[in-house]
Amino acid sequence: MPDLLIDPAKASLAEMKRVAKVVMHEIAHMWFGDLVTMEWWEGIWLNEAFATFMEVMCQDAFRPQWKVWVSFGAERDMALQIDGLHATRPIEFEVVSPDDTQGMFGRLTYEKGAGVLRMLEQYLGAETYRDGIRHYLVKHSYANTRNHRPLGRHRRGLRCTGPRRHEHVDPPGWLPARHVERRVHHPTPLRLRSDER
Ligand SMILES: [Zn+2]
Repeated sequence: MPDLLIDPAKASLAEMKRVAKVVMHEIAHMWFGDLVTMEWWEGIWLNEAFATFMEVMCQDAFRPQWKVWVSFGAERDMALQIDGLHATRPIEFEVVSPDDTQGMFGRLTYEKGAGVLRMLEQYLGAETYRDGIRHYLVKHSYANTRNHRPLGRHRRGLRCTGPRRHEHVDPPGWLPARHVERRVHHPTPLRLRSDER
């Protein structure tokens, strides 16, 4: 059982980080899991991925000097190592038996899921993303929701996350970047392009 209270005057940095991580993760479940609950076990990844995402975000606000997004990158990479195996699974899959449910609780659910949510936040911008999550939580308060619909209908831009999200949530493993292009017009026109490996 992890500690939930700690004396900052006596605790080591590692202990402080561990307690902050656990407390912030579990508090996040008051919104992602309690206030809005998934209809079925296949949606558990959104509870856990969001709680993990919020846990890191809250730690970053609490102690920016910890640079927790950097350490999260290492945890996400561990999830992607698993995701590189032939036996990997999608983040979301059909849950029929109790064993399927158990299979949901692992790095692909927590860290890869949180990584996808972080990527969407970076893609949309923090404010748009926050507004979309707020809309989703208000709309589904004290109710159940189907996980393939969350965040998808918000008028301020989250509509576009649907296809992006499913590119990463539905298939097993991760997709290589197929095409990245960016044009910068000032001061000199520049185009960067990266094609499929
Ligand atoms: Zn959790």
